[in-house]
Parts: sequence; structure tokens; C-alpha cells
Amino acid sequence: MHDSDITPRPTVATIDLDALEHNFSVLNSFVAPAKVMAVIKANAYGHGLLACGRQLERCGAAALGVAFLEEGVALRKAGLKLPILVLGGIFEGQIQDFLTYDLDITASSLEKLTAINARAAESGKRARVHLKIDTGMNRIGVRAGSAPALVEAAVKASHCDVVGIFSHLATADEEPLDDAREQVALFKEVLSGVQSLIPDAVPHIANSAAMLRIKESQLGMVRPGVALFGNEPSPGLRLPVELRQVMKLESRVVFFKVIPAGAGVSYGHRWRAEKQSRLVTIPLGYGDGYTRHYSNVASVLIRGKRYPVVGSVCMDQLMVNIGDDEAYNGDEVVLIGAQGGEKITAGELAELSGTVPHEVTTAISSRVPRRFIRGGKQIKESQV
Ligand SMILES: *Cc1c(COP(=O)(O)O)cnc(C)c1O
Repeated sequence: MHDSDITPRPTVATIDLDALEHNFSVLNSFVAPAKVMAVIKANAYGHGLLACGRQLERCGAAALGVAFLEEGVALRKAGLKLPILVLGGIFEGQIQDFLTYDLDITASSLEKLTAINARAAESGKRARVHLKIDTGMNRIGVRAGSAPALVEAAVKASHCDVVGIFSHLATADEEPLDDAREQVALFKEVLSGVQSLIPDAVPHIANSAAMLRIKESQLGMVRPGVALFGNEPSPGLRLPVELRQVMKLESRVVFFKVIPAGAGVSYGHRWRAEKQSRLVTIPLGYGDGYTRHYSNVASVLIRGKRYPVVGSVCMDQLMVNIGDDEAYNGDEVVLIGAQGGEKITAGELAELSGTVPHEVTTAISSRVPRRFIRGGKQIKESQV
């Protein structure tokens, strides 16, 4: 779809790999001596799996975390050598692929551990496993009370190397932090009972919010995702570090017109001009992941000024009211990112649409080409 022989519409997500490196090194120093597993699931939160994976490997990440087998395999096929943990639950039929592609496996129950060991024994390989303990997220993993049994079974499993033990926090991005602190305490209690059995297993529990807000959650390793991309874990959450937003979503004005007072704009005429107004149309819409929830509430930047999105966001186009100001066909429009002294963050859009910044960037669809920048120059994904 991104055909290099034609002149495409100028809608693009620019991914600043220097900003990614900056964020990684800020976070890495913040938690030292803890190591960083960079979480790049879901196409690196919409930023490009392979480019971000390669850049983070160059920056010195200790490991990468992804959600699914497919993502781990794609990274291996691209030549990445770091340990890669698939954080999600596994299906038995996938175990051979984990072994073939040397991916770390989440063992989230006794049954899964048994299946992993059996498959590894059959294929004459050793499986690298991280044991998953559920301390309150209630997603996957064994309950804290069953952790000792899982650990003992893992130690006995002839073809498994226990390289990690982990849990996940449900409320680290909220106030108060009491529940998250309780989860951390419960995990540490589990660890104190089993760590002597698995001295080489790295413990980890902290996501971005926890590693930045709960000091005692920084164990042997931490697992930031959203913060690597320069976004706060929940809209408006204040962080103790300066991060740079990695994604800039840009387009250009494709149409200009003047509408009379009273004219309705876009599907359902959900916005009407109070007075004669100048409108511009931008070739981007919810088909690109710029959700319809932004209708009538979001802003964009043109010529360094903020202007409101008016009327419903269409699948492929949206309208912006520039009032009495000037804008021309071809003018740059910033939907996420900075222009002049103004800035629109993923957090701002998340707030407007009742979600988290993770979803705002992850939603930017594959119809929007990613353009990678490093050292001020555009580079191909394969050159990262
Ligand atoms: C997504 C995820 C993370 C990263 O979370 P952020 O909030 O993006 O930092 C860490 N651990 C697990 C298990 C995850 O699913």
C-alpha cells in the first residue's frame, strides 16, 4: 500500500529514534543498577517494531518484551540477538516455535510449564522460562499461594531454565498508590520464599508508572513501555524525568474554503459555524486511527497555532476551523507533536477521548507510513 512509485498523500508518522534513545537512557539511569526490558509489543505502541527494537538493542537494553509469539519471531527474523520475552499466555501448539526462535516463554500455570518441559525434552532443547505470578492484576499467572509449587516444579523440570520470575501491577498509574504497593509487597514475600531455589532468575514487576513512582518496585529488572515513547502512563501524570515524545503525526492542508454563518460541517452536522468562518480540510481520519472521539474536541497545529477540529472526524478526512486566520493548501498540520512553540501530546488526546496515551499511538493504523529519523536524517527501517 505504501507504493514508492506514486506521490502519496502527505500524512505520515515521524518516529524520532534519537528521542527513543534519549528516553531509554534517562529511564535506564533512573533505575540503575536494575536492568531494563524494553516493552515494544503492538508494533512498539504504533512506532514500528523492528526499527524500535533495533534502536533499543543498540542503546543497550537488557531484553525486549513483546505480547505475542509473532512479534518475537519478527524480531528474530530481523536479526535481533537480545533475550526476548513474550509476556502473554501461550498456546501449547506454539511451544516449538518458541524453542526454534530462542524466545523466552511465560510459564503462567503448572500445566503450561509441564507442556513446555515436555516439548523441550522431545526436541532436545532447553526452554528459557519466566514464571508468572498473579499478585492482583487477575489476568494471567498463578496466585501467590501457588507460587512455591510452580517454582519447585520449574526447578525439577529437566529441560527448563528459569531465567525470570515476574508479576504485573494493576494500578501503578493511579492515586493512591496503596494497592500497587501492596502488590509489590506480596510479590517480594513470594520471592523471599523461593529465591534460594532459583538464584539465577531475575525478578521483575514494574511497568513505566511503577518504575518512576514506586522505588521499591525496581527489582532486578523493570519493564517500561509507554514511557520509552515519551508518554505518561495516564493522562497528566507527572513524572520525575524529562522524556521526549517519539511520534509526530503530521499531514498537510488539502483544501481551503469559507463557509457562511449557520453552515453545518461533516456527517450529522454536529458543528455549525456561528459566524462566517475559514475551514481547512486535512486528509486523515479514523481510518488512520485518529478516532472519531476527537470530533469537536481535539486541536491541531497549523503555522504554530492551535485550531479546533470541527464536526465529526470522517474515515479519511477532517475539518479544522481557522477562524479569520490564513492557511494555504500544502501547509503542514501537526496532529501529535510540536510546531512552533505549541505542542499536542498523546496524553492530551487520551484525556479527550477517555483513554490512555498507550492507545492513542498504538491506534495509528498501518495506513499511515512511519518515517524514521536519526541524527536529523531520514533512514530506512532496515538501516536502523
Ligand atoms: C504492556 C506491559 C508492560 C509495559 O507497560 P507500560 O505501562 O507501557 O510501561 C509491562 N509488563 C507487561 C506484562 C505488560 O503487558
